Amino acid sequence: MSFHIELVPAFADNYIFLVSDADLGLAMIVDPGDGDAALKALRERDLFLSLILNTHHHADHTGGNEKLQREYGAPVIGPAREQSRIAGLSRGVAHGDVVTFSTLRGEVLGTSGHTSGHVSYYFPSLKALFCGDVLFSLGCGRLFEGTAAEMWGSLKMLRALSDDTLVYCAHEYSEGNAAFARALDKNNDALKQRADEIAALRRLGKPTIPALLGNEKLCNPFLRADAPDLRRALAASGFAAADADPAAVFGLIRGAKDQFRIAK
Ligand code: ZN
Ligand code: FE
Repeated sequence: MSFHIELVPAFADNYIFLVSDADLGLAMIVDPGDGDAALKALRERDLFLSLILNTHHHADHTGGNEKLQREYGAPVIGPAREQSRIAGLSRGVAHGDVVTFSTLRGEVLGTSGHTSGHVSYYFPSLKALFCGDVLFSLGCGRLFEGTAAEMWGSLKMLRALSDDTLVYCAHEYSEGNAAFARALDKNNDALKQRADEIAALRRLGKPTIPALLGNEKLCNPFLRADAPDLRRALAASGFAAADADPAAVFGLIRGAKDQFRIAK
């Protein structure tokens, strides 16, 4: 069995993910915000869509559900807690549930914080994590419907996955995230390296996704709210007390990011 994961760019900075089983000519689509873009990608590859996954209810992740469903009749799986807010949802899932595509098995992880029911899908045999708007490369989603403690809990759950996990997040936000991360965590060599890599990829117009989780654990400030070196640096600049609760430190970092503007 050979599986492929491809990125389908949509809108200004979204990625729709297309997972295909080359032997059977079947496809699974994750977060089809733009139905036309997803449909075009399926037709170009001559694939039949058999499953749609949604991470959360926002329109840039679900807007194409019904169009694809009309075309292929594929079921839509998404967070049970957002059932009433997702058009076309066929099956609601929650943490601990399992989804299947062809011979692949995906684990549903409850990752609320960006929205109240946000879920992520982890496919161990692909080493692939589809995490929507919870975790980005060098960043994380905004707290629209959750608390800092909730989001920190979700990020810690994702952080517990193995280092070789590939992070398929739904937005190309890496370059802006890198500017903030570098301003906050100035002496982090791994972060500098990743920021340079991101800048080089973007100069070539290439995606920075997927990101390697093991590297994100070293570079992403939102995964490092309990890292002693970052906490010492933040305490030294009066940003957060050295003994503050990690969830509170995370909340301060998230708040700072919300206010951050890249200096021109
Ligand atoms: Zn969103
Ligand atoms: Fe989004």
